[in-house]
Amino acid sequence: MTLAETIEKIKDELNNLQDRTGVPVKVILDLVAFLLLPGKATATKLGKLGLLIKAIADSVEAVVKKGSSRFTPAQSTLDLFNEFIASHPNFPYSKKYSTVTWYYNANMPRIGGTSNQNAGAITFEDRIYFGSRPKRTVSDISAMFHEFVHTMQYRKHGQVVFAAVYVGNYLWNLIKEQFDSVAAYGDIKFEKQAYDWDRRFADWLNSRSSFAPDENRNA
Ligand SMILES: [Zn+2]
Repeated sequence: MTLAETIEKIKDELNNLQDRTGVPVKVILDLVAFLLLPGKATATKLGKLGLLIKAIADSVEAVVKKGSSRFTPAQSTLDLFNEFIASHPNFPYSKKYSTVTWYYNANMPRIGGTSNQNAGAITFEDRIYFGSRPKRTVSDISAMFHEFVHTMQYRKHGQVVFAAVYVGNYLWNLIKEQFDSVAAYGDIKFEKQAYDWDRRFADWLNSRSSFAPDENRNA
């Protein structure tokens, strides 16, 4: 392959990425240039990196949001979150969910690797997107709790740190796990914490005789 052909191929790949994720090619090139540029990490450079990360997150979210609708979880579901957190003093975040906005029918991104599945849900700051509307079952309510934990991680660390650590951790794991994308995803620090707590939440729900799985289904 000649250099010109290689450049054409990279351009095609970037355009593909832009079509699939909505992230403008220019933003990706800016990020690559930034990462390759030598020099110390100054406040100005870190500020620029923050803006780039924000531009990427905003682009991906705009694609995810397309065609989605808002929904309000049943108060009884939010009460369960409350009760669980209140009864688990080692839960690492304070309970504040009044600002969370929930969406369903979102345009969910493909899960990487050989899997052809779409992700079930994705969170951007305090906005949670589901592919399909969660039902009042232990697994769906636990999935809501999982995303809810992500909103608290965002709130604690801020969007730029959250996104940078999340993506950096994923890429590092990819290399470590020999490009097994599922293992790399499961080893992201923020995912491990969210999965750990959604499992404990599911166990707690299952242990409650008062929890009626079919109550308010789709409500
Ligand atoms: Zn997650």
